[in-house]
Parts: sequence; C-alpha cells; structure tokens
Amino acid sequence: MISSELLPICIAGEWRLGGGDVYESLYPATGEPIARLRAASLADVEEAITRADHAFRTSGWAQRLPHERAAVLHRVAQLIREESESLAQRQRLDNGKPINETRNLVASAAGTFQFFAAALETLEETITPSRGAFVTMSVHEPMGVVAAITPWNSPIASEAQKLAPALAAGNAVVVKPAEVTPLMALELARICEQAGVPKGIVSVLPGKGAVIGDAITQHPLVKRVSFTGGTTTGKHIAHIAADKMMPVSLELGGKSPTMVLDDADLDHAVNGVLYGIFSSSGESCIAGSRLFVARGIYDEFLTRLAEGANALRVGDPASERTQMGPLITAKHREGIERYVDLGVSEGGRIRTGGVRPHGDGYDRGYFYKPTIIEGLGNSARISQEEIFGPVLVAMPFDDEESLIAQANDSVYALAAGVWSRDFKRAWKLGRAVQAGTVWVNTYKQFSVSTPFGGWRDSGLGREKGREGIFQYMEQKSMYWGTNDQPLPWALT
Ligand code: NDP
Repeated sequence: MISSELLPICIAGEWRLGGGDVYESLYPATGEPIARLRAASLADVEEAITRADHAFRTSGWAQRLPHERAAVLHRVAQLIREESESLAQRQRLDNGKPINETRNLVASAAGTFQFFAAALETLEETITPSRGAFVTMSVHEPMGVVAAITPWNSPIASEAQKLAPALAAGNAVVVKPAEVTPLMALELARICEQAGVPKGIVSVLPGKGAVIGDAITQHPLVKRVSFTGGTTTGKHIAHIAADKMMPVSLELGGKSPTMVLDDADLDHAVNGVLYGIFSSSGESCIAGSRLFVARGIYDEFLTRLAEGANALRVGDPASERTQMGPLITAKHREGIERYVDLGVSEGGRIRTGGVRPHGDGYDRGYFYKPTIIEGLGNSARISQEEIFGPVLVAMPFDDEESLIAQANDSVYALAAGVWSRDFKRAWKLGRAVQAGTVWVNTYKQFSVSTPFGGWRDSGLGREKGREGIFQYMEQKSMYWGTNDQPLPWALT
C-alpha cells in the first residue's frame, strides 16, 4: 500500500479529497489495494474548470515569454528524472507493467517535457507573402482551459504527451486519468507545481469517465479535448465536440497488421513480431495483432514464433527479468478470454497459450499467457476487433496484392509493420498500407519528435512533433497596414 490515507486530488491547485465515492487502485499482479482516494464529483469538475479559467486569465502563465515557460517545462523534466525510480515503481503498482517498461515510460515522460520546452523556445511564427499595402503574419494564441482524457495502459507517458504541449502553449489543463490508474497524473500535477507552473493551471480529476470525463467534455469553458482511449468513447466525445464547435484530437484503437515477406531476416522478424504483440501484455493501441506471413516461410516462422512466445517470462512486474506482467483488471482478462473462445468457435486453432498461467505467483494476479491463433481469415471477428491483450492472429498470404488488400481491410489504421530485406518491396508496401505509423524492419519504436496518430476509426489529429504545440493553440492572422493614406474606399 502506497498510503493507508485517502489520497487528495488536485482541484485547480488545491489538494483535497474529492467529493465523489471512495475507491481503491488495485495492483494487477496481486489484486491488492495500493491506494485509496475519493473520486472527483460533478461539483469538483465545475469548480476546477471555473478556477482553471480564472488562473488562465490572471496567473500570467499565458503571457510569459516562450523561453520563460520553457524554463519551467525543463524543470518539470529534471524533477521527473530526479524522482524517476519512485515514479516507475508507483506506475508499476498502479497498472502492473514490468518495472523495466515503467522505467522507460518515465524516461519518455521526462523527454517529452524536455522536447516541448525546446520546441516552444524555438517555435517560429510566420510572415506570409504580402499581397497589398500590409505585412501579413500568422501567429498562434493559447486557447484557455483544455482537457486531457487518458487511458490506463501507459499513464505517465500518455499524460505527459498531452500536458507538456498544452502547458507549453500557455493553457490551463484539466486531466482526467483512467479511473483504474489515477496515480501518475496526480504525481505530474505535483511536479508541475514544484517546477513553478502557477497554481490553478493544472487540475487532476480522477473518476468515472462516463460521468467526470463527460462533464469535462461538455463544459462550455473547455476549449479543446485531447483524448486517448477506445473508439466508441472517442466517437461519443467527437459528437459532443461537434455540438460545441470544439476541436478535438482522438488517439483511438488499432488492429495493426505486421507483414513478414519471404526475404525477411527471420531472427529480427520473429523478435520484432513477439515484441510488437506481447510487450505491454498486448495492452497497446499499436500492438501488431494481425500477422501476415508469406506462405513459403509460414510453417518455419510460426514454429519459431510459438517457441519464442512460450519462452517469454510472464510474471512479477517487480522483477527486472519479467517481460509480460498481468493484465489491468480481472474484468479485462475475462474479455480477452471471451475473444479467444470466440476465435475457437469461429474455427481458429490455438497454436500456443489460450490459458492463464498456473502456479506460484499467478493465483491472485490477472495473468494470461501469450497466445497465437491460426486457421482464421482476415474477416473473422477476432481478426477485425481490437482485443487489447496478448492475442495474435496469424495468417499466411500468397502475393503482395492480396496482402495489401487484407492489411487495409480494417476499420482501424493506426500502425503497421513490414519485414523485408528488399528495400524496394518494403517501400512499396510501406507506402501502400494505410496507417498513421509504419515501421519497416522494426516495430513499436517511438520518437517524440515524430507525429503520431491514426486514420479512420483509429483517430483524428496528431500528437508529438514540433507541431504538437499548435494542437493546443488557435491560429490568428494579422495584417499590419503600411499605407500612408486612408483606405481608398473611405474616401469615395
Ligand atoms: P476508454 O475509452 O474506455 O477510456 C479512456 C478514457 O476515457 C478513460 O479515462 C475513461 O474513464 C474515459 N471515458 C470513458 N467514458 C467517457 C465519456 N463518456 N466521456 C469522457 N471520457 C470518458 O478506453 P480504455 O480505458 O479501455 O483504454 C483502452 C483503449 O485506448 C483501447 O481501445 C486502445 O486502443 C486505446 N488507446 C489508444 C492509444 C492511441 O494513442 N491511439 C494509446 C493507448 C490506448 P474511465 O477510466 O473511468 O472509464
């Protein structure tokens, strides 16, 4: 237990118990409570947003010069690094990811603040070609109160990915973390305060998405929502945003194809495919969950893949040797089991996995074995629907034309992987596959300097990259008259 006391939440800089129900955050490896807190109430939402709007208008945060706000963001990055081990341990307890992975997420959060500090300081406004007796410019202004709604799978990284550019842009930010993983957003709010972000500029409101997240999205003072989560929720938020004429960015689900050609380096490809689907226990929007392998190498590849999946170390997230921790909740594991049953009822064969591991250390946590299912086509439900767990559907393909048709036959288009030694074939496939991100001879690598987002049901808008800051700003055109005379119309 991190603390037996109820944890306070952050309502526009005031740390106090929420007005909602008491609930517990459970450690997915044991099911034991690690923290108790009182969720935000609707009154807390109203207060946080009203006060955030006040802080936006009066704290001077928006008016600070870029290099001044950047200095604060650099301090946030530094504080995250100073506390990195305790933050990584806390995130491990909050969502059960292996410690090596949570250490990487914490490092990535620090890197995100550092990147957006640097981007902010060096961001240029544009002077556009003049077409009259005026100088024309395009500048950007902060929006006011913006909201960040995040899922449970990589809390500190996805929260930093929204907080850093939104703060860099000069806004006040209200964060609604997933109900089951409230801790890292609260830590980030504390660190932002310590680094010098004015009180009231950051709020963290844990609680049920359908109540608290909905109220935040509906609130008239909220000028933008940046959402990461499931497609159904994303579409719901998009409807509210349409009614309010509010911009949104939506990072949603995926069912990403990985394509292994017959000339691929098999050692690299086996490794990359295993990492692509089974790291993070498959609880990853970009998981490479549909595998297409050239028929000529299919048997050999699947044999090696199944051996690799069997050898993965599933277990205690505190151990540095662990590669796959538990799933987030008992309910989520049941959902994954239902999908595996569905795959079998559709005619699929379980090549490996398909069960919970048994024995010491597995009885209380929500563990599930890495699972590979074969014998189904691309139109099967488990080939089309996002499972968000360690379940790979493997299929052979005959030629590149049918491969592309199948890879693109999905409502999702978030990511894709291509494995081939022939750069021309890889280039052709990489350009033909419809996806927000394509990895060639690698998978699930990230850089904050490179935009990220999806097509179709995988979302709208892009995060990261220098332009990420502009997502949280309104664009303004300015005309500076250079005439010595009044406008001609006024004289006639
Ligand atoms: P959800 O959509 O259920 O939840 C995401 C967040 O939205 C949570 O904070 C949730 O709160 C909140 N929420 C739920 N309902 C509403 C509502 N009506 N209004 C406003 N907010 C709401 O997704 P999951 O938590 O199940 O996360 C998994 C999903 O996230 C997967 O589909 C995955 O693909 C996607 N994802 C996408 C990523 C990307 O970058 N494209 C990255 C990571 C995940 P609460 O916790 O209380 O339900």
